[in-house]
Amino acid sequence: MAIIDENGVRRRLKIMLGTEELADDYIRRYGYTIHIAKVNGLRFANEYREKMRMGVAPEEPKTDRDDPLFQIHVKCPACYAAEIPLWEQKARSLSSVLDRFQMPSYKPVGTFHPADYNLVAVTICPQCLYASPDKKDFICLDPRRNEVPARLHQGELAAILADADSRTSVLESSGLNVPKEHLFARERTPQAALVAYQLAMERAQIESARNVAFSRFKLGGYALKQALIARTYGVGEETPYLEKALEFYKQSYETSNASGAQYEGWSLYEIVVLNTRLGNETEAGAFLGALDKVKADMATVDTMFLRWYNLTRDFWSERDNPDLWKN
Ligand SMILES: [Zn+2]
Repeated sequence: MAIIDENGVRRRLKIMLGTEELADDYIRRYGYTIHIAKVNGLRFANEYREKMRMGVAPEEPKTDRDDPLFQIHVKCPACYAAEIPLWEQKARSLSSVLDRFQMPSYKPVGTFHPADYNLVAVTICPQCLYASPDKKDFICLDPRRNEVPARLHQGELAAILADADSRTSVLESSGLNVPKEHLFARERTPQAALVAYQLAMERAQIESARNVAFSRFKLGGYALKQALIARTYGVGEETPYLEKALEFYKQSYETSNASGAQYEGWSLYEIVVLNTRLGNETEAGAFLGALDKVKADMATVDTMFLRWYNLTRDFWSERDNPDLWKN
């Protein structure tokens, strides 16, 4: 007979339903087996009762023609919380400049207001703190208003939901003193944006433990975004983020986590540039040798790989230029 972890089920139900009372109500009605349809039914019934009780429709955000960002709503694939705001860029509203690590900074185009998309790029579920800068990680609606499922499978999503408590502790352990409500503000502070990327990393770490493709490669990118935010706004030291990024890209490369010649070239580029930035020129040189070998072993050179190869070679020939790190 299967042993039911009653406390674990109660905790998951509390996250999915939002309150202890609703979790108890569920268990009274249906016992300790979680059925998503029943969870949703109970949630919707409760939300409907709440709306009736309040007697007011939620206020729509004002639309501003010159705001470079617009809001859509998505659903959390882990706990099914709905109406989560996700910010997207309007077409041709922001131009971007890449730093040495190929991470973008944003400038407004024409009459659009300035907006640093890096600060709001990560969407966070207010209920279970599932977080990602990728829309595909959430349940969205297609133009016919049908739900498009999220990228991850049920196994990963269940593991991510079960780990909600450790995401809550990120807020306290970050040392950045970010109140939870700052994570959901339209104008996110740099400190809250750093925590937002940390929450996305918590998700990707679970994917990495389960060997999900691209998880380690993405972790490297998230750490580079943190480094860029820390540098741009002078929030703490940039170096620990760069060290983390290097570790993730090395893990990604060594375990072929991001398959395909393009990503092999991209990972090696980041490893060479990060090692150089961190003063490990010998290791940078060794990975440059690995890049040369990948190219030499290719029967026909992949064009996307070649782009990263040339970028790495250009960077290496310029490495003693004192202006190298100005962008
Ligand atoms: Zn959630």
